[in-house]
Amino acid sequence: MDSCIFCKIAKKEIPSEIVLEKDEVIAFKDLSPQAPFHILIIPKLHIKSTQDISDANSSIAGKLILAASEIAKDLKLEGYRLVFNCNEIAGQTVFHLHCHLLGGRRFAWPPG
Ligand code: 5GP
Ligand code: ZN
Repeated sequence: MDSCIFCKIAKKEIPSEIVLEKDEVIAFKDLSPQAPFHILIIPKLHIKSTQDISDANSSIAGKLILAASEIAKDLKLEGYRLVFNCNEIAGQTVFHLHCHLLGGRRFAWPPG
């Protein structure tokens, strides 16, 4: 999608610090990190949010989580948090599906 910042990052039209790239998935450092390690894992294909995952494209969900797990192993994270914010009320600001991988510190539960 032309106006989507994450589509532009996936197409390398705007720069980012890429940490992993596969056929359907790309991962890069978050511009405004909320933990010592904060990586965003996105599908290259524009999907708006988890609410736009369907039977036709649901395999991408596993690919995002697998990529997150591989990055966490590479970074030797003791533990980590994966977050999908869905819609504005839950904190989504970029409407291109993404998984936050957060690590390198302790996280509170419940998250607030
Ligand atoms: P959301 O709030 O939608 O779940 O997460 C969007 C994330 O994208 C935020 O953590 C924000 O810091 C990050 N972000 C927004 N614009 C850019 C950008 O241009 N480059 C990078 N690397 N991260 C971005
Ligand atoms: Zn997009």
